[in-house]
Amino acid sequence: MRRKRRIRLVEDFQPRSIDINELHYARLLGERTVTVRSVKLHHPWLSGLETDRYSIRLKFQPNGEWNGVLLQWRWLSWGAWRPFFLCPFCRKRAIKLYAGSDFVACRKCCGLRYVSQTLGFNAKRHRQAVRIRLRLGGKPVIGAPFPKCPDGMRKDVYARMRARAEQYELPLRVGRYRKYWAWRRPEYPVLIKIPRI
Ligand SMILES: [Zn+2]
Repeated sequence: MRRKRRIRLVEDFQPRSIDINELHYARLLGERTVTVRSVKLHHPWLSGLETDRYSIRLKFQPNGEWNGVLLQWRWLSWGAWRPFFLCPFCRKRAIKLYAGSDFVACRKCCGLRYVSQTLGFNAKRHRQAVRIRLRLGGKPVIGAPFPKCPDGMRKDVYARMRARAEQYELPLRVGRYRKYWAWRRPEYPVLIKIPRI
């Protein structure tokens, strides 16, 4: 029997990612090799990080070996150099690399998908409607009564948001699966974004 493959989401792997632009803005990609002291603070899944202009070296275990990732610099038309990782598996440019147990790879080599790639037509409508309801201080369920106008919000803004939400919800309220959509719960980690500090 074919077992259904579990879809892994980019959004779940954000805490285990490393971003080239963050390293660049922190001025770590210079001529000299830098051993990053505060690596545990920003990347708790790493135990060692060395950077320079041409590559970065990662250490996953405290007494493990170093894994190198090459960098590539591209000249932008407005006069700046932008760095990219080269994915160790497919050798293509990547801005973010995601970490497994002892490797890093780009999104495609890790087999990760964005949430928006996994939702169908009606699920996207449901997500938009639930977002508006949460914005107005309501419950994230379509079956619940529509929230009232929150304090401090203008009436015409409220009317516009309500009209838009009802437009999204209308196809979900009719048809065969209306009870499913009415009580479906949203994907909480997607709706509530936790900022990285
Ligand atoms: Zn790759």
